[in-house]
Amino acid sequence: MAEVSRVQRAPDDLFLKIVAGEVPATIVHSDDLVVAFEDVNPQAPVHVLVVPRERYENVAELAAASPQALARLVEVAQRIADERCGGEHRLVFNTGTAVGQSVFHVHGHVLGGRDFTWPPG
Ligand code: C5P
Repeated sequence: MAEVSRVQRAPDDLFLKIVAGEVPATIVHSDDLVVAFEDVNPQAPVHVLVVPRERYENVAELAAASPQALARLVEVAQRIADERCGGEHRLVFNTGTAVGQSVFHVHGHVLGGRDFTWPPG
């Protein structure tokens, strides 16, 4: 079922269009597995999205299909946090509409540069 859903939603995949350069974004990192860009609606002084070049709906699908890409995503997230906010950051993968996922191409939110509360809202 997940595979069917992934294929059906693919034509509307905004982040695939960003990866392909068809939709503008401020790209801050690009390699063979992942691309990172500034979130257009930042929720913190540092708010970067890191996405795999290939489309998976959520982080569990990515982990199952391409652990190498997930490992790279986490490595790039840490590097961005190291460069911008002393390494301390929150790496968030929203999974499902109930918790706020709005784009169904897995993306890690790298958030930092201010204090955060817990639990999250
Ligand atoms: O976790 P969620 O799916 O809600 O995150 C999607 C994120 O994509 C939002 O933070 C939104 O601001 C961001 N976005 C973006 N560029 C777009 C459209 C959405 O950075 N063109």
